[in-house]
Amino acid sequence: KRNVLIIGAGGVAHVAAHKCAQNNILLGDIHIASRTVAKCKAIIASIKDKGNKHGPGRLQAHELDALDIEATKTLIRETDSQIVINVGSPFLNMSVMTACIETGAAYLDTAIHEDPDKVCEQPPWYGNHEWKRRDDCKKAGVTALLGVGFDPGVVNAYGRFALDAYFDQVDSIDIIDINAGSHGRYFATNFDPEINFREFTSTVWSWEHNRWKASKMFEHRQQWEMPVVGNHTTYLTGHDELHSMSKNLGVPNIRFWMGFGDHYINVFNVLNSLGLLSEKPVRTAEGDEIVPLKVVKAVLPDPASLAPGYTGKTCIGDLVKGMKNGVPQEVLIYNICDHEESYEEVGSQAISYTAGVPVVAAAMLIADGTWDVGHMVNVEELDPAPFIELMNRMGLVTRVRDSKGDRVLKPQNELL
Ligand code: NDP
Repeated sequence: KRNVLIIGAGGVAHVAAHKCAQNNILLGDIHIASRTVAKCKAIIASIKDKGNKHGPGRLQAHELDALDIEATKTLIRETDSQIVINVGSPFLNMSVMTACIETGAAYLDTAIHEDPDKVCEQPPWYGNHEWKRRDDCKKAGVTALLGVGFDPGVVNAYGRFALDAYFDQVDSIDIIDINAGSHGRYFATNFDPEINFREFTSTVWSWEHNRWKASKMFEHRQQWEMPVVGNHTTYLTGHDELHSMSKNLGVPNIRFWMGFGDHYINVFNVLNSLGLLSEKPVRTAEGDEIVPLKVVKAVLPDPASLAPGYTGKTCIGDLVKGMKNGVPQEVLIYNICDHEESYEEVGSQAISYTAGVPVVAAAMLIADGTWDVGHMVNVEELDPAPFIELMNRMGLVTRVRDSKGDRVLKPQNELL
């Protein structure tokens, strides 16, 4: 059994904690730490409310500023945690990773590191921060698994699996992310607005013909006919997984498309044009200094509050095109997640659910040794089959649509 320390107590941490508790046979004590200990306690209460059977392990809340490396190291040692699931804000990655390297605990996260004072991470992305610690992880024999939510995370594994199972040569991977759900509010973001808007206010990078192409947000649109959720309009968007997949998979075209409704785009454009999405402070006539983005965040609904009453489904997947035995092939590997079912099971909406389940599946594969590689990796560098199999049993079922039809993806059957 491996004890787990979860850093952060937001939407994704909530799901991760529930899933760790459901798998308490493999994962031992579960510790949840954030600056606001009340949020950690509320997660523990919700696990107890759901009556999820967790085994003999302890469930404990801790107050921690995870930017404080020494305090994080002390907590890892005091709780005897062998696995740290970092699902706090992306500003924490490098301090938490350092604490793991110095204590020997395995490290997992779900987003690329960001510096609070930069608009959004710029090229070379992982190379700015995480990958600089590769040798240190190797020397310490520490498994550091980067970006193992849904996107990044599962979509990286889908790309790897497509290459292994269906193609001799892949020409393109289009990652398509559609939230066809409805939260019923005038305007809201599904996770931290500060992080959400950063994704859309900077340059959009895509990997085209083996090189980076820069575009503006909402410059390129594309319609897709997706299973279950139907026809949706998406826009070319920059995303973490492109930065590692372009390096690790040898595929010439990798793009990320996110679905947006016209209403979202209108509100976003108004806020952005007025300067209300800026993280640069402005001074009011009264002399107060305020950060516009922080004001917008303060007035928008708390993403966690969207979960009750959220209806509809998400559909996220990889559309992969290439050749097999000289014949052109097209395969879509995808997942459908239902907001209401996620709420019923763990009290969260599907965006948090699709990010929280994979990181726990990955922690379990580290705990049982399958993915405990003792160095730093991105998801597509690991065998995707056990990961996809485990998630199928944990509530995130992978499906595949190709010339043979549409079916649940059972990796062992496909690889025969
Ligand atoms: P939230 O904003 O809901 O939660 C972030 C948590 O981090 C809060 O509980 C906050 O609590 C805590 N936190 C912030 N600063 C510190 C600190 N210095 N020390 C300790 N805790 C801190 O975010 P989400 O749960 O929505 O997302 C979590 C992560 O998952 C983010 O990195 C996000 O980008 C990523 N994500 C990844 C997805 C994927 O598919 N790969 C999808 C969705 C999200 P407090 O303020 O009390 O400290």
